[in-house]
Amino acid sequence: MSYVNRLPTEIFKCVICTKEFTYDEVKDTWKCPECGDPIYIYAEDLETATRIVLIRKNADELVKGDLVHLSGRLTESPYSVIGINSNSPEKKLSVGLKGYGSYNFSKEESINCRVGKW
Ligand SMILES: [Zn+2]
Repeated sequence: MSYVNRLPTEIFKCVICTKEFTYDEVKDTWKCPECGDPIYIYAEDLETATRIVLIRKNADELVKGDLVHLSGRLTESPYSVIGINSNSPEKKLSVGLKGYGSYNFSKEESINCRVGKW
């Protein structure tokens, strides 16, 4: 999978299987190798005291209500998805983000979606 923005420390867990996995086991799909559910990523950045829980989706899997982090902004607040235009030019997905405007993702891009804190 393509480049994805990460925090210095990341722990990869499946909440269904209650198992922990290594980066190499999940980096291609960001899904559990055993049950296929999204891997929960417990990410930490000590410098900014950020401790967040993420899942990583392909841009074309985004749905309204997802909280997405733009690349390079993992330690900032995420933006809520309010609309998706899949009729945008080839390989691009135009996503409406609350408080930001529209943002073009590449359809194959891995997107950090916030699901919680820890
Ligand atoms: Zn699992």
